Amino acid sequence: MRQIKLKERPDGMPSAKTFQYENVDVPSRNRDEVLLKTLYLSVDPYMRGRMSTGPSYAAPFKVGEPLNGGIVAQVMESETEELKEGDIVTGALPWQEYIVADPNQLRRPEVHGAPVSSALGVLGMPGLTAYFGMYHIGEPKEGETVVVSAAAGAVGSIAGQLAKKRGARVVGIVGSQSKGDYIVNKLGFDEAVNYKEENVSEALKTKCPDGIDVYFENVGGEISDAVWPLLNTFARVPLCGAIAAYNLSAGESDIGLRVQMPFIKSRVKMQGFIVGDFSEHFREAYEVLSPLVKNGELHFEETIHEGFDKVPDAFLGLFSGENVGKQLVKVVEP
Ligand code: NDP
Repeated sequence: MRQIKLKERPDGMPSAKTFQYENVDVPSRNRDEVLLKTLYLSVDPYMRGRMSTGPSYAAPFKVGEPLNGGIVAQVMESETEELKEGDIVTGALPWQEYIVADPNQLRRPEVHGAPVSSALGVLGMPGLTAYFGMYHIGEPKEGETVVVSAAAGAVGSIAGQLAKKRGARVVGIVGSQSKGDYIVNKLGFDEAVNYKEENVSEALKTKCPDGIDVYFENVGGEISDAVWPLLNTFARVPLCGAIAAYNLSAGESDIGLRVQMPFIKSRVKMQGFIVGDFSEHFREAYEVLSPLVKNGELHFEETIHEGFDKVPDAFLGLFSGENVGKQLVKVVEP
């Protein structure tokens, strides 16, 4: 079976040299462990941070060891009480076609009739991130203006829809016309700004005539620079991610002094958060999100690459914006 290891730490954008496929024997297991077959593998922007050694909230991947992340898998062999052959499970697991795991590392996906892959997207880490960032930090109110960057992605697409459900006017920033059409026509955003074609500053001024009350920050860089001057007094900024900075070399930081003055002047609340900070509220989030997904009131898209050999391409595609919604790899048919 194949596994994917971190071959060398990338400097700037990762490339084929970052990843190493290796053929190894299917691991043997103890009686209290289970053998899993990988069905779906999640590629996420935060994994880029773990490929470097800089300080972060997640430990760096080790060179020469398998990468790991969110996986949905099927139990192939089990003598444990907790799991039986055929069960579907999810967990943070190594990038391998077959995995030996302790049942305590795994949980059953709570997808309530949605595809099992949604345990890695709308009903998994990205959906929870959107929920807590928007509802616990952004707290949009009826009639307010909310701007979401990377708005057609896994987190942004859900964050924007959740703001709409609170009665806000929602403007999404995206990297193509088709993504703009998708968030407006399919997801119900009020407006889209295509940062590759439009002057973001001018477009936001036109599309947010009453200023911006919540900015759900996913990208950083020049897009955020266009947002800061438009923030209203007491605006909130859930600081979820800064993907535009992930492949910069050290020292090229993009958030600096220029942010401070407009924030002080308008008493803006900007709060960085990690989805795991809200672990005691995960149940609350599932109870809100699951019925919305089940009733078709929360749309989600998955961009699915087929085959274990597509994992690096799928990961790199996150930084060129090829995905709509959650970027996944289907390793084998469930
Ligand atoms: P997405 O599904 O949104 O995929 C990434 C998208 O970002 C791309 O499709 C692309 O869309 C956009 N993008 C890539 N590079 C740039 C760039 N240089 N400038 C502007 N846009 C860019 O990923 P996720 O939804 O998984 O993650 C979104 C953000 O949320 C990331 O910053 C991630 O790190 C963060 N995050 C934070 C978490 C937390 O706990 N704080 C948890 C999960 C995610 P386009 O075509 O529109 O450019």
